Amino acid sequence: MKVLDLRCAQDHRFEGWFASEDDAQAQISQKLVQCPICADHAITRLPSAPRLNLSGAAAAPAGRAAAGAQAPGAAPVTLQSLYMKAVKQVLAQTEDVGERFAEEARRMHYDEAPERGIRGTASPDEVQALAEEGIDTFQLVVPAALKQTAH
Ligand SMILES: [Zn+2]
Repeated sequence: MKVLDLRCAQDHRFEGWFASEDDAQAQISQKLVQCPICADHAITRLPSAPRLNLSGAAAAPAGRAAAGAQAPGAAPVTLQSLYMKAVKQVLAQTEDVGERFAEEARRMHYDEAPERGIRGTASPDEVQALAEEGIDTFQLVVPAALKQTAH
């Protein structure tokens, strides 16, 4: 398991979990990696020193200096842990409908299926089509580690 610090074009920072360095490179170049905050696909890896922000609140003077070097107002650790928590919650409270996601979302919208929380995969086109029909979806990047425990 490789945890890398990533950044999108909007300067959102987040962690990506990958099987290996090569896997990370492949997923980023194939635009399989998405910013969890703005869904941007223009992801770059932060150049080294990636662990500095994880010293977090413990804040020895050196740690504080490192934290100060982060974008002002950014709280990567807190955001990250909140995000992980949210993802876990979503996984626990939704039904996995896999590739039938768009279909199920539509059926619920038109009262053909019971209203409930669902998750699954959808192409950008499907998401767009759903949005045009007034069906709200939101995108979630589920770290591989959580995916494994969810099944
Ligand atoms: Zn972003």
